[in-house]
Amino acid sequence: MSDYPHAERYPVARGLASEGRDRSEILAELGEMAKGEDAYWETGRCSGTMYCGDHDHYAFMNEAFGLFAHENVLQRDMFPSATRFEGEIIAMTLDLLHADAIVDGQAAGMVTSGGTGSILHAMLAYREHARIERGIEAPNVVKAETGHPAFDKACHLLGIELRKVPVDPTTTRADLDAVADAIDAGTAAVIASAPNYGYGTIDPIAELSDLALERGVGLHVDGCLGGFILPWGEELGYDIPVFDFRLPGVTTISADTHKYAYGLKGTSVLAFRDRSLRDGQYFFLTDWSGGKYCSPGIEGSRSGGLLAATWAGMMALGREGYLRYAQQIFETAFAMQDAVRVHPELRIIGAPTFCFSFTSDAFDIYHVNDFMRTKGWRFNGQQYPNAIHMAVTRPQTQPGLVDGFAADLGNAVAYAREHRDETPKSGAIYGGIPGGPTPEADEFIRAVMTEMMDSQQELPATTGD
Ligand SMILES: *Cc1c(COP(=O)(O)O)cnc(C)c1O
Repeated sequence: MSDYPHAERYPVARGLASEGRDRSEILAELGEMAKGEDAYWETGRCSGTMYCGDHDHYAFMNEAFGLFAHENVLQRDMFPSATRFEGEIIAMTLDLLHADAIVDGQAAGMVTSGGTGSILHAMLAYREHARIERGIEAPNVVKAETGHPAFDKACHLLGIELRKVPVDPTTTRADLDAVADAIDAGTAAVIASAPNYGYGTIDPIAELSDLALERGVGLHVDGCLGGFILPWGEELGYDIPVFDFRLPGVTTISADTHKYAYGLKGTSVLAFRDRSLRDGQYFFLTDWSGGKYCSPGIEGSRSGGLLAATWAGMMALGREGYLRYAQQIFETAFAMQDAVRVHPELRIIGAPTFCFSFTSDAFDIYHVNDFMRTKGWRFNGQQYPNAIHMAVTRPQTQPGLVDGFAADLGNAVAYAREHRDETPKSGAIYGGIPGGPTPEADEFIRAVMTEMMDSQQELPATTGD
């Protein structure tokens, strides 16, 4: 018996219905589902994910989306607006990342489908550049272990060797000597995070920039999470190290518009110090029987709606809007960290800002997570060592939230102390899957993904219409 979502409320489709359904009935059903799912995060108790959480802003972006959703941005002769949206999203992002400081190149960018898309295109650009400019046929890239799995995925897909090096266990920042040792004649680029997803800590990017210049390799800064919020933190006077194009060794930066630029899910910017690195990864086929084909990135057809919505959102907020929201987020994040520091059993890892992670040397931190879950809190989990993290977003900035967090955390610590000899119910998850790398765990993860993809086919036919 499957636990297919909503099967008890609605008929399950196992094929295309012979007759269409009434539109208003379909919209009512969608509305019910969305309302239930929105209620989960509107409490402000879920880490990350809902970076904006502002229904007015969503409605505005959805209106912009609707005007261009049906356009295919691959056909620029029909849809020149896409060139304006994309170009201006890139320009606004380059501005924020201090591309004006670049004296040795012509800054450029591309809009991709998300953080993974930006990372994939960056790795493709480095692979092609290494082959064309340096004659490297088997390139490698070097990342600190805390770098996002999207780099592993990109290297897997593109046939690039990924060299993972350890981080300093106290600061969770990349170990410079280890990075230096891993670089060789085949290294196309080094990867740094601003900040990394797990701990919210920022690698020593100024030093990595010097190292990259000295060794003649690229430096990709993963600003997927921080790219649209750290610049405001710096402006607000918080202790945020420079991570952007002001550092001469930084050659690319990924920054997700669908995170702290508060866009709809499905866009990110990949920014380049110099246009030539981007241009090397274009794809074109000039002798196809179907005509000459070219696409600037990996995707073929793309919706104009996401470009329009992202552009409209950025236009509507401007510097003033982003700064105001960032101030609320940083203040909330530091207040929540203060609530953690009240407890001597808890330890914040490294020196984080808007996204922080904490652990315990007195008990398994997942006991705290177990208790907090009963109060509707949803953290993300780390392993080696076990820790839980909170990426503070706009839903957390609502009044009273920090007080609620402090109160629940106090009770959670008491619960963890009481249950310290038991095994916690929760574990380290990203995307909902527990466990470490064993053949059994791999099999389990495959089964979970298959269940997610196919479970409607396993329901007894009587559940449907
Ligand atoms: C979210 C994130 C990514 C991947 O982005 P997606 O949008 O999920 O594809 C990469 N790096 C960091 C640091 C992130 O937070």
